[in-house]
Amino acid sequence: MKRNEVDRSKISPMMLQYLEIKDNYEDSIIFFRLGDFYEMFFEDAAICSRVLELTLTGKNAGLDERVPMCGVPHHSATSYIDTLIDNGYKVAICEQLEDPKNTKKMVKRDVIQVVTRGTRLDDHIDAKDNNFIASIYDFGYCYGISYSDISTGEFYVTLIDKKEEILVREVCKNNFKEIIVNDDMDRGIVNTLRTNFGVLVSIRKDMLEEDEYSYIYKDLKDERLITTIKHLLCYILENKKGELKHLQKAIFIKSNDHLLFDNNTKRNLELVETIRNRERQYSLLWLLDKTKTAMGSRFLKQNIESPLTNKEDINRRFDMIEVLQTEFILRDDLIKELDGVYDLERLVSRISYGNLNARDMIQLKNSLSHLPRIKEILEKLKYNKTINTLDEVYELLDKSINENAPIGLREGNLIKSGYNSELDEIKSISSGSKEFILSMEKEERERTGINNLKVGFNKVFGYYIEVSNGSKDKIKDEFGYERKQTLTNCERFITPLLKEKENIILSAEEKIINLEYKLFMGIREVVKRYISEIQSVSKVISEVDMLQSFSIVSEANKYVRPSIVSEKVIKMKDCRHPVVEKVMKDGYVSNDVDMGVDTDILLITGPNMAGKSTYMRQTAITIIMAQIGCFVPCTSCTIPIFDKIFTRIGASDDLVSGESTFMVEMKEANFALSEATEDSLILFDELGRGTATYDGMSLAQAILEYIHDKKKSKTMFSTHYHELTVLEQDLDRLKNVHVAASEEDGKLTFLHKIKNGAIDKSYGIHVASIAHLPKSLINRALEILDVYEAKKVKKETFTQTSLFDNIEEEQQENPLLEKIKNIKPLEMTPMDALSFVYEINKEASEEEE
Ligand code: ADP
Repeated sequence: MKRNEVDRSKISPMMLQYLEIKDNYEDSIIFFRLGDFYEMFFEDAAICSRVLELTLTGKNAGLDERVPMCGVPHHSATSYIDTLIDNGYKVAICEQLEDPKNTKKMVKRDVIQVVTRGTRLDDHIDAKDNNFIASIYDFGYCYGISYSDISTGEFYVTLIDKKEEILVREVCKNNFKEIIVNDDMDRGIVNTLRTNFGVLVSIRKDMLEEDEYSYIYKDLKDERLITTIKHLLCYILENKKGELKHLQKAIFIKSNDHLLFDNNTKRNLELVETIRNRERQYSLLWLLDKTKTAMGSRFLKQNIESPLTNKEDINRRFDMIEVLQTEFILRDDLIKELDGVYDLERLVSRISYGNLNARDMIQLKNSLSHLPRIKEILEKLKYNKTINTLDEVYELLDKSINENAPIGLREGNLIKSGYNSELDEIKSISSGSKEFILSMEKEERERTGINNLKVGFNKVFGYYIEVSNGSKDKIKDEFGYERKQTLTNCERFITPLLKEKENIILSAEEKIINLEYKLFMGIREVVKRYISEIQSVSKVISEVDMLQSFSIVSEANKYVRPSIVSEKVIKMKDCRHPVVEKVMKDGYVSNDVDMGVDTDILLITGPNMAGKSTYMRQTAITIIMAQIGCFVPCTSCTIPIFDKIFTRIGASDDLVSGESTFMVEMKEANFALSEATEDSLILFDELGRGTATYDGMSLAQAILEYIHDKKKSKTMFSTHYHELTVLEQDLDRLKNVHVAASEEDGKLTFLHKIKNGAIDKSYGIHVASIAHLPKSLINRALEILDVYEAKKVKKETFTQTSLFDNIEEEQQENPLLEKIKNIKPLEMTPMDALSFVYEINKEASEEEE
């Protein structure tokens, strides 16, 4: 039976309540609280029985047919919710809002929160990774993107050009777990994000109306940014329903604030996970992560995904690494202190949202206890940022919260004695009465002469006096004993005095629990006032932790401080691939990269397996390491700041789009060629090999010429078409290098050494023989090769004048067009835009005259 087939006039009142709630949460699975269970009904029940492997039953609801139902016990609901979230569902938790004992009518119920992939605040999110939820707002001519990690409070916003590739780059860079889009968003893109990138995408129209959270965007002027933020906030607040005052002011990220690269680059360079197993181990992140705090680890990952472009900031980090390496005793101290700091960012979000317990408070206190020493060390190291040690918060927590407090807030034992006099008084009354009861046993034994008389307690009868059957006769009326319970071998009694003391104890215990809860909430309120200070401390700690990690890793692996220059040169001496080097232990052959101001393109030839792609990868990784402020795996390194990196190495991740590998390769090449600037790095590995030899070779040449003449980006282009090496004669900023291999008695040895000049021949067949193809087959291939070599097309064919020479002439650049091309619409104010239109209109009219 389906939900929308139900006749609501006939259905039971409780089921009607369910349906009315469900109407508001169409896209979520409702966990409907019934006593000790959460029950799911109708289509939700069908999904849950399948995904969670639960038995599908039915519930009578006044209809002819039973309503499909399945359920889970409330105390084990979390793991079921996790499974649903991992499978891409959202779960709305619908609770009983009143105690069934206190009402004769039907219990009120409502959704208290919706758990979604991007809005989780529990322990199930990865401590070493951010959990970003984003709004992507299609404005017709550009996209606004706002994103937040509500478990840490970070909030960012940016504007990007309306290009699918750029959008995908942003989504993958930040690893968005969940996205909401506005109604205008192209459904094709929504599907790509869902199917190719596994992101949970919902289309939402609503906008935040109240302005309680306006502090998040009030410093921003651009309405587009504000709209995107309000769109996201509306969704978050609708789902979380609690207080989220730890959300920080949104930081506007400009497109040139960071070194940009797309998801293929991130994957192919194995920056945060390996291609093969998608694991952190053996990625660059794994290598560099010697951080001590979860905050530091997350910050490092953010940096690797978005390196810096500001020279001063980068140099400041290098300075700190140098200081940490000289002051290694202080560094050891710092590391010890950092080790004791818990995840302050996530603790703070729990304080704000209200789901924290006394143990979180103790973790907070213990973390704060390290701040004075950290501050002192940072001062000694002359670090450019300092921290507030938050002494008053530490003192408050130290005198109030019990070290051994339980997890539950309604069990008492939260607050230390000496913190609140009322609490101490009730506690002393209660313990006085307990002591009285303890001494009562001795007194009653003496009074009655019954030596085995006991005073005991149980939950049903409270305190009692127990007398064994053998001594029952000794009880006299004057003792004032009142029989309460008869057991097989004893009899239990109470006395008015015992009950009086019991009353005091029990009411005191209830009072203690309530008062402790109230005091705990008061302490939480005080701590809440320090949320933004704690967040500032977290920021400094994250960076310092990352830098100490860099200094340790750099020292252990002999990395050096790169020098960042404004000339467009790449000079790397003895550069290594940091991860391959680490894994190989010894035997890694280091290589130089020598691209002066007059070299834009390195054409790298060499047999397969020689080490061409490793060489290109290590160059890009070295640049990324430098731009996150880490030392680099070279003996010396001079580079400029890069704005973007494009790579076309290895397999693409766009496997589901149904396009051929070659098509994807060409699309990616196109994206690189259109987006790259003189400040970009392009790595093309065997571009064009996916088509016929001459096609591939011609394309490769045309692309090289295009980059050389038009883009002037620093480019490394590997190829095994050694025919292309003659281009060096025509393209003056192209230089040939090759990976040396030695051939002796027909046996090939890879030396992995990059040398100047072109390779003389291709060794494809040798590589095939290393792979143990049949001997007869290899011999036959060598025979065929001889025939081809004999007929070889003359090299000159390929060195005809650049294809673009003609185009150049045809398209005499129009200065007005150049001007329009060069503007940055996203960075203009409406006033700038208007004056620009006025200006070009004027110029165009003048030209006509
Ligand atoms: P190509 O791109 O030329 O086909 P790769 O870069 O994929 O070759 O390298 C092939 C193998 O050679 C890699 O698995 C790597 O382990 C090894 N290798 C590459 N460069 C080096 C080097 N500089 N030193 C030692 N081994 C290397």
